[in-house]
Amino acid sequence: MSFDGNHSFGGNRSTDGIHHVTAISGPARRNLAFYSGVLGLRLVKKTVNFDDPGTYHLYFGDGAGTPGTILTFFPWEQAAPGRLGVGQTQETAFRVPEGSLGWWTHRFVDKGVPHETIEKRFGESVLAFRDPDGMRLALAGVRGLEAEPAWEGGDVPAAHAIRGFHGVSLLIDKGEATGAILTDVFGFERVAAEGSVTRYAVRGNPLGGIIDIRVAGGFLKGREGAGSVHHVAFRAADDAAQQAMVERLTTQHGQRLTEQRDRNYFRSVYFREPGGVLFEIATDAPGFAVDEPTERLGEELKLPAGLEPMRARIEAVLPDLG
Ligand code: ZN
Repeated sequence: MSFDGNHSFGGNRSTDGIHHVTAISGPARRNLAFYSGVLGLRLVKKTVNFDDPGTYHLYFGDGAGTPGTILTFFPWEQAAPGRLGVGQTQETAFRVPEGSLGWWTHRFVDKGVPHETIEKRFGESVLAFRDPDGMRLALAGVRGLEAEPAWEGGDVPAAHAIRGFHGVSLLIDKGEATGAILTDVFGFERVAAEGSVTRYAVRGNPLGGIIDIRVAGGFLKGREGAGSVHHVAFRAADDAAQQAMVERLTTQHGQRLTEQRDRNYFRSVYFREPGGVLFEIATDAPGFAVDEPTERLGEELKLPAGLEPMRARIEAVLPDLG
């Protein structure tokens, strides 16, 4: 993206929007069964938490692991439940074809997934539901998605398959400073408001192009745990675009960012935005096919070179995925 006012908008060519969302879950096996088995996402990478290599880091997405489709988890077998509050991501929404919400409602009834009745938000039909850890999720029915590519190797027919992220909602005390970062740095525009929620969107409706800010002054602060989102990552086309965002955040928004960290599949910087949510900026490159072919994504435990010498010990302590 650029900062001269000429954003590279244009449908799926946009590199603005969410790159991935990372959350905390309970047992890895249950997490895999839900996201792969019930939601039909592809496990695109099975690796470990680089900062805690005795635990998994599981990445789910579409068939190719496209930025904007990636939901990742740090599963901890003994994780205490989180509590939603101010400074946290409230809900993570995927998008599905508009006509598929009825099919999904039946599936949730069949599989015993706690869910709400379909409601209208900003003119769209939305089906809210929870994962086994109580994480707040939703499916948004979006017109025109039928023709978009979908992962066909999963348990959900391609016609109804999740197409990636719709967006996330953030529960924060005061929304202005966060909104300014979204519009000034990440290519979003303020497009609508409904009650206490302000919607920011990337023009052209790309994957993960919506951030809803729910202002909830006076709410308790959240507590991180199972079912909590740990951070939201935004896309950068490359290192130069990421660096330009860092400079903008530093000079115009008073933010302090980490050094760049190599996450094997992308390169990342992090900062805690003014509302308290941990944001990341992740490069599109190199992507998930860097260490295994696309057709075999997620099949083997992949470790970064630095952890490879400890593979036997790591494999011995990782829980069985079933
Ligand atoms: Zn991340």
